[in-house]
Amino acid sequence: MSATGLLEKLRSGEDVVVAEGYLFEFERRGYLRAGSYVPEVVLEYPEKVKELHEEFVHAGSDVVLAFTYYGHREKLRHIGRESDLEKLNVKALKIARQVADDTGTLMAGNICNTCMYEIDNPKAIEASRQMFKEQIEWAVAGGADFIVAETFNAMGEALLALQCIREYSQLPAVITLASSLKGLTTEGLTSAEACRRLEEAGADVVGLNCTRGPATMIPLLREVRQQCKGPIAALPVVYRTTPTQPTMQSLTVPGTDKYAFPVDLPAFTCGRTEVREFARECRKIGIQYIGLCCGNNPHYMREVAEKCGRKPPASKYSPNMAEHYVYGSNITDYHAKTLLHAQRD
Ligand SMILES: [Zn+2]
Repeated sequence: MSATGLLEKLRSGEDVVVAEGYLFEFERRGYLRAGSYVPEVVLEYPEKVKELHEEFVHAGSDVVLAFTYYGHREKLRHIGRESDLEKLNVKALKIARQVADDTGTLMAGNICNTCMYEIDNPKAIEASRQMFKEQIEWAVAGGADFIVAETFNAMGEALLALQCIREYSQLPAVITLASSLKGLTTEGLTSAEACRRLEEAGADVVGLNCTRGPATMIPLLREVRQQCKGPIAALPVVYRTTPTQPTMQSLTVPGTDKYAFPVDLPAFTCGRTEVREFARECRKIGIQYIGLCCGNNPHYMREVAEKCGRKPPASKYSPNMAEHYVYGSNITDYHAKTLLHAQRD
C-alpha cells in the first residue's frame, strides 16, 4: 500500500491525523526511563515499538512517526550510549517504514530540541546543526516521507532545524513549537508570531505541540490561525491544563505545591470527551494537522480520527452504551434503581 503524500493531502483539504506521545507511553509501560527519556526501547524491545505504531494506526493515525525523539547525540551521550546513536536511528526508521508500508500510511522522520542549543552561542548552534544534519540524513536514507521537527522553545532553534531540513533533504517540513508558561518563545515572541516567521521561512506546516493541554492550547491556536496562511499543526498533551497552570510542567498535585510533572501527571489525564471536543474545535478553527502528544493513547487517537470523519479499524470497538447492562436499552428497574444507584448515590 502507498499513501498520498502529506502536502497533497493538505492541499486537497484532507485532515491529517497524527499520533505522537511515544516517549511517555513507553515510560508508562515500563520500557523507558523517566528522567533521561531516551528511546532505548527501539534497540532493546523493537517489537514493542512496532506494536505501538500499529496500535496508533489501528486507531486512526495517518502517520507513523519514527521513534527518534530524544534519540539524538546529546541525549545518548548523556546516558553513555553515544556509540548506539546511528544504530538506534536506523532501526527506528526501519520499524516505522515497515509499519507505514504495511498499512498504507505516511512515515515521518523526527528531530527535536537538541538540549544544547543556546541563543547567541555559535559553538552550541553549530553543534546543534550537526545533530540535525545527521538525523535528517538518516531519515532520508530510511525513506521518510516528511520530517517533523518539534518541541522547540527557541525560535532560532526551530529556524535552524528548518534550514537543515531544506539543506539536507528534499522532504516536506512540519515545524512545531512547545509553548512556554507565558506562551512566548525564548526570544520573547508570541507563538503566533513565531509560527508566522517559520511559515515565511518556508515551513510546509507550522504549529504547536506538547507542553499545553487542549484547554490552554486552543486559544493560542486561534492566534496562530490568524497570523498564518498555510496548514497548521496542533498536538497538545492529553492533560488538563488550566489558565493558571497552562503547561503540564506547571501543574501541581491538588492540595500541595508539588509539581506533578512528570510522574504524577496521570491524575490530570483528559477524558475522551475533551479530546473529541479538541478535535472538533481544531476543525472549526481551520487546523488540518491534528494529533496528540504526551499522554496519548490509542483510545484518544480514535476520538480524533472519528471527529475527522474516519472509521479506523478500532472504531469497530468504539463505545456503545446501548449495549451496557445498566445504561442500555434493555435496562430493568432492578438494574437501574438498585445497582447504578448503589454505585452513585
Ligand atoms: Zn509531548
